Amino acid sequence: MSWIKDFFNPKKKIRIPGMEDNFYATGECDGCGECFRKCPSGHIKMIEGRPDWGKPCLMCAQCGTVCPKNAIRFGKKPENGSPERSE
Ligand code: SF4
Ligand code: SF4
Repeated sequence: MSWIKDFFNPKKKIRIPGMEDNFYATGECDGCGECFRKCPSGHIKMIEGRPDWGKPCLMCAQCGTVCPKNAIRFGKKPENGSPERSE
């Protein structure tokens, strides 16, 4: 499965549709760090109390599953930079 090695090799720049999108946290995020702790590939960092997703990731969706605030979205971050809130 050489494509897997290539996928995780930053010099190869393998792209799949949607890879320009990324995970982001909405305003519901309280910075608990559960997504950071449960990510099996270590691609989430906590920066100033907020999760920040690296690339590439395994796309396993574990982070979204464990988030107690249901605050994780996938796609293009809102252009105004203001995280959405559900209320
Ligand atoms: S989808 Fe999986 S590998 Fe990717 S950031 Fe979330 S938990 Fe980590
Ligand atoms: S698990 Fe959810 S609430 Fe906790 S830091 Fe991650 S995105 Fe924020």
